Amino acid sequence: MNRSDFPILQETVFRKPLIYLDNAATAQKPRQVLDAIVYAYEHFNANIHRGVHHLSQVATMEHEAARKKVADFIGARSANEIIFTKGTTDSINMLAFSLGELCVQEGDNIIVSAMEHHSNIVPWQMLCQRKKAHLQVIPLKVDLSLDLQAFEELLNERTRLVSVAHVSNVLGVINPVKQIIEAAHKRGVPVCIDGAQSVPHMSVNVQELDCDFLVFSAHKMYGPTGLGILYGKEDWLNRLPPAEGGGEMIDHVRWEGTTYNKLPYKFEAGTPDFNGSYAFGRALDYLQQIGQKTLEDYENGLMQTLLSSMRGIRLNGCTLSIYAEQSPKAGVLSFNVYNRQNALIHPYDIGMLLDQQGVAIRTGHHCAEPLMDWLGVPGTVRVSFGLYNDENDIQAFAAALEKSLAMLA
Ligand code: PMP
Repeated sequence: MNRSDFPILQETVFRKPLIYLDNAATAQKPRQVLDAIVYAYEHFNANIHRGVHHLSQVATMEHEAARKKVADFIGARSANEIIFTKGTTDSINMLAFSLGELCVQEGDNIIVSAMEHHSNIVPWQMLCQRKKAHLQVIPLKVDLSLDLQAFEELLNERTRLVSVAHVSNVLGVINPVKQIIEAAHKRGVPVCIDGAQSVPHMSVNVQELDCDFLVFSAHKMYGPTGLGILYGKEDWLNRLPPAEGGGEMIDHVRWEGTTYNKLPYKFEAGTPDFNGSYAFGRALDYLQQIGQKTLEDYENGLMQTLLSSMRGIRLNGCTLSIYAEQSPKAGVLSFNVYNRQNALIHPYDIGMLLDQQGVAIRTGHHCAEPLMDWLGVPGTVRVSFGLYNDENDIQAFAAALEKSLAMLA
């Protein structure tokens, strides 16, 4: 889909055409986004919100227009609910600090799941350590879905927040977040959804989900790096204290004390990446033109093709183990291969051989070491789609994998 918009896809690697299947790590940028970055720096680069001069006013207007686009993209009630951050990790760290200051005390608990990215584990561990609270973990069932019964048993009057991935960056599985949110809300517990791997691939509407917080990164959505979003319901954001101090987030500063700005600026200390937000707005325009539903259907079709191609390759006596093979997935698939002696072929070895054939996939623990421990492997091989991938990419990947296994069997 729209492959010619992405200049990097013309690159060669080891004199082979680049087959880029590492989109869960970061997505490539279309010409429209690349041009927008240059356009902003060439035409209205000036610090926002502070200047009376023309350039500053244009830059401010564009930054705020981008905020409105983000709000519309995820169905937020108001642009005040959209906080620009440095990325998903930054959003979660801010929320963990702020929520901790507002309402986490000794003996309270926070719930995450066993398939979280380190970004949705470590900030909560740090908070729990600071406040002598407990981090509790929703276990997985044998089919690698979340054990919802165990989740409900974890929820109690000391639970201060549930924070779970919408889509696992390792397994690609789509978690039943609506059900999780309903169960948590019945007990008055707010929920944060890590949308880093869902918002790029499917339609995510915060009002339909009724999540209290949603976090995601621009760079996985064909936008620039170093930019992300913390969505929060307005009443929550009004109650939470700012996570960082500095310029922009203040109302008045006096030696006797400081009063804070209104939303969303209360959470945006310092100069934000206003040229990045403009380019991100262009990325959202680009996605909107395609339509998230069209994209989702297209990537689902690719996933089916990938699964059948993988099942069809000559394994040379090896065994292929695809994780959560039966579950619906959003653009991400992980697997491992065992050799003829039934020993794990290290994912890194497969990754190296694929790379030499021009195929970029990711290997390792994918910042989800607790999940790797649960699976009992040091890592996996992960294939992840972007909107520009097509059946040729899958055929090239399958052929390269077959060739690699012939060497490693
Ligand atoms: N959560 C999930 C599910 C992710 O896939 C990622 C990125 N791999 C992150 C959080 C962290 O995102 P970032 O590095 O952009 O902050």
